[in-house]
Amino acid sequence: MAPTRKKTADIHNHPRRIATKATKPRDKDASDFDVLIVGGGLSGGTMAALLGTQGFKVACIDREIPVTQLEEEFDGRTTAISWGSQKVMQGAGVWPDLKKNTCPIRTIDILDGNSPVLLRFGAEEVGNQSFGWIIENRLIRKALFDRMQGLKNVTHVAPAQIVSLDRDDSAVRATLKDGRRFSAPLVIGADGRNSFTREWAGIGTRGWMYEQRAVICTVTHERPHNNVAVEHFRDQGPFATLPMTPDKDGRHRSSVVWTEHCADKDSALHYPKDVFDAALTARFPDNYGRVRQTGGRFSYPLGLQHAHTYIAPRVALIAEAAHGIHPIAGQGLNMGFRDVAALCECLVAARDAGTDLGDDTMLETYQRQRRFDNMAMAGATDGLNRLFSNNITPLPGLRKVGLRMVARIPVAKKFFMHQAMGAAGLLPDLIREAKSS
Ligand SMILES: Cc1cc2nc3c(=O)[nH]c(=O)nc-3n(C[C@H](O)[C@H](O)[C@H](O)COP(=O)(O)OP(=O)(O)OC[C@H]3O[C@@H](n4cnc5c(N)ncnc54)[C@H](O)[C@@H]3O)c2cc1C
Repeated sequence: MAPTRKKTADIHNHPRRIATKATKPRDKDASDFDVLIVGGGLSGGTMAALLGTQGFKVACIDREIPVTQLEEEFDGRTTAISWGSQKVMQGAGVWPDLKKNTCPIRTIDILDGNSPVLLRFGAEEVGNQSFGWIIENRLIRKALFDRMQGLKNVTHVAPAQIVSLDRDDSAVRATLKDGRRFSAPLVIGADGRNSFTREWAGIGTRGWMYEQRAVICTVTHERPHNNVAVEHFRDQGPFATLPMTPDKDGRHRSSVVWTEHCADKDSALHYPKDVFDAALTARFPDNYGRVRQTGGRFSYPLGLQHAHTYIAPRVALIAEAAHGIHPIAGQGLNMGFRDVAALCECLVAARDAGTDLGDDTMLETYQRQRRFDNMAMAGATDGLNRLFSNNITPLPGLRKVGLRMVARIPVAKKFFMHQAMGAAGLLPDLIREAKSS
């Protein structure tokens, strides 16, 4: 959906726009950067590392203590990284560090209710490549923190509490609780679903909560997973198992995303350990043997959220600050990485052309490249969740017919495989170049 010129007027007339003064010299006590990033999580850290690799002077500010974010108990999550995202990480200089900790996905099995495997995607069908990789989020953060530290032009400011953001005609300034000030022509909001930057810029969202939560944990199992990811659509919602690297004692591991829509008191979150292990073993395919939870259990409420716009004067939103989706297809961060790549490419073009890094036209180009793609994915995952988490007749029958049809129509199957690999979307030239260099 290409923005019209009216959009330009919209961003100029943004309701929360701070009254502009005639171009004001930057504060003497504020450190000047090319870009400020609020949020140094998976998307913000990647944005900082990618821009830093491209020679930009970047300050990346996060409120959390970095070592806390590296602990196993911080969020318990893993991410399925697509080929497209891997290229972004390569461009950001973090892939060599991460690669040894990734587990390739070579087969994806789709099951529905009590049926046997209805649809199987095999790596041999895509030139024997993997469909992507499973990586622990804390290890992605570790690689990003190390990379930011290694880049002289990137300043990772964490933990830090931003008390105010201000902007005028030439810059945005962030003031921290300890009095430090940072300024740049552009601020990127990478601060997640409850984005402070989005709120400050006066950008609203639309969306809804699903009456579902995802219970997340890591498990060990007796027999190997053979690099298979399983998506089992059950009445309660999808139950996914994702293959992981072995633990330090060599035990086979998988990550579980157990979606449920029951009252909190009935949640698997509260099952006694032996009951939980038995329930996991019953839900895993038989060939895994006995399954045991290791570490903690985590719960995430699930919802869809989309920002009305990704841009405001001298502001760009990326990843979950702009869009949050149901994890049914494991695409949330992969979409975020496409934002990162697209915005980086726009900034490189602006720098090469000698234009302002907060230029409205540049921001519009970024939004035009990403908003429609993200809306389409948000709609697709919403539809999938409604279709597969519902047992109202005739949906179960239709689902089975649909999955069998996809299995038998090579073009349809190929389409879904390429979606899973993230290869169908935007792969900016910049990232392609970074890969080949
Ligand atoms: C159960 C589940 C499974 C998922 N699985 C997948 C998957 O397999 N593949 C996939 O692609 N995606 C997946 N996702 C989605 C993915 O986890 C998110 O898209 C991703 O974490 C978003 O990253 P982010 O950096 O935008 O936001 P966050 O991870 O929320 O990071 C935001 C950062 O901003 C910081 N911050 C917040 N407010 C402030 C502030 N005021 N000042 C300074 N810093 C601030 C926070 O400390 C944090 O570091 C899954 C999501 C869920 C819930």
